[in-house]
Amino acid sequence: MTDHAASTTLTAHELAERLRAGDTTSAEITAAHLARAHATDHALHAWLSIDDDRAMAEAFAADARLAAARGEGQAAVDALHPLLGIPVALKDLVSVEGGQATAGSRILEGYRAPFDSHITERLHDAGAVILGKTNMDEFAMGSSTEHSAFGPTANPWDLGRVPGGSSGGSAAAVAAYQAPLSIGTDTGGSIRQPAALCGVVGMKPTYGRVSRYGIVAFASSLDQIGPFARDVRDAAALLHAVAGRDERDSTSAPEPVPADLLALPASDDEAASWLRGRRLGLPREYFVAGMEPGVEARIREAVAALEAAGATIDEVSLPHTDYGLATYYIVAPAEASSNLARYDGVRFGLSHRDGGDYIADYLATRGDGFGAEVKRRVMLGTYALSAGYYDAFYLKAQKVRTLIKRDFDLLWEQGFDALVAPTSATVAFPFGARMDDPVAMYLSDACTLPVNMAGLPAISVPCGLSEGLPVGLQLIGGAWSEAQLFRAARVYEAITATADWRGVQPRDLALLDDPATPTPGERVAAHA
Ligand code: GLN
Repeated sequence: MTDHAASTTLTAHELAERLRAGDTTSAEITAAHLARAHATDHALHAWLSIDDDRAMAEAFAADARLAAARGEGQAAVDALHPLLGIPVALKDLVSVEGGQATAGSRILEGYRAPFDSHITERLHDAGAVILGKTNMDEFAMGSSTEHSAFGPTANPWDLGRVPGGSSGGSAAAVAAYQAPLSIGTDTGGSIRQPAALCGVVGMKPTYGRVSRYGIVAFASSLDQIGPFARDVRDAAALLHAVAGRDERDSTSAPEPVPADLLALPASDDEAASWLRGRRLGLPREYFVAGMEPGVEARIREAVAALEAAGATIDEVSLPHTDYGLATYYIVAPAEASSNLARYDGVRFGLSHRDGGDYIADYLATRGDGFGAEVKRRVMLGTYALSAGYYDAFYLKAQKVRTLIKRDFDLLWEQGFDALVAPTSATVAFPFGARMDDPVAMYLSDACTLPVNMAGLPAISVPCGLSEGLPVGLQLIGGAWSEAQLFRAARVYEAITATADWRGVQPRDLALLDDPATPTPGERVAAHA
């Protein structure tokens, strides 16, 4: 990491500026990130595959597009997407034609995607460069990335701790400067929680904002795709590139993609002025039992800073918050059990064909191919959907879900612009700490799950450190209010731009450069 024009410490918008100024090329930027990812990933394991050849080909194509636009004049250059030539990492459940998409599972080992996902197409249209695929909890079920069938990812702030999950690889790669941007999915918190634990920005858009065509499904009424970045402007630009209606996903909404996503103020002074007169709610139920005092202190300080910058803050109540977890763990496993029925050993990936007995082959494939957490969910979900139980569990959970959504609606009706809350009640936890107790792991997402149940957008931004580890501030908005949420998050970034903690680098960054540093798998084995 030198102070080079293609340095991996730069944000996407800084890189884009240098690219347009002719100070660097996409090939140079891409090569720098590939080199860093290769040199450091043994100690982090953020990646499941890195495709150097494809990435470099895309980088050269981006450079050619930029050169052609320059030939046409400034208007053509201005019309290029800000992500042109900028590297992006994708969670390994996004289809890239001809590439792997394991979803962190053995059952998809060997599977090659026959087509591009919608967001892959959109990233290609923008001219972004896809570096490779990142590690994740199997089928996005988890909060630590320890449920990956390919071994855990470490947190660059402390290599003995988890990066959060399920999009832990995408969060860790951005935090460790292996990529300026990455894509994750958030079904119950899997973008926001790892963003918080790794000290980066992560946004879960409104349900329907981004097409899921070509994304491995977990729970279809909850899954959303969203960005990770090291600052708010970059996250907004990545969402802008992938959002919008797509005929191939009937749940993607015709709602126009706000151009404002690309118009966030660059200057901190300009950004800060936006907050005056805004009303923010502080939901008391999000200060959950078991919240670490250091986390609570950082959130309260962030709220005070927002208030000092002109926002009105009122304590509010979301009385059904407590039911978020219980209802999510009916709805999500129920939908997962149905979505995962397709992994039958015939159509995708792993296939045991032992004796010509189809049922035996099916059981052997699924028995070997799925990990313990996935099996637990399939069993719970199948049970909740079975005759006689459907009304008592799934239908009941859906009714309570309406009450959870109504809690939020009432606050928007009262004129609140957004809600401010913790993203996670704790900082990153040590490997193994929640692996023996599924409910303890599920509780990791108590502050994020209700937002998915209500289909709302929310963003997590870094707001300081507790015990030297990052804390995330969550801003929750009404449906389709992403542009406003990014604005609010940009304000928070601006008013804390000079805070001491902003300059603090992930504590274990230097260890990543040392080839003698153990792998995350070795660390876990040492503690087992
Ligand atoms: N941790 C939650 C779960 O295990 C949420 C995961 C997610 O958002 N994909 O289901």
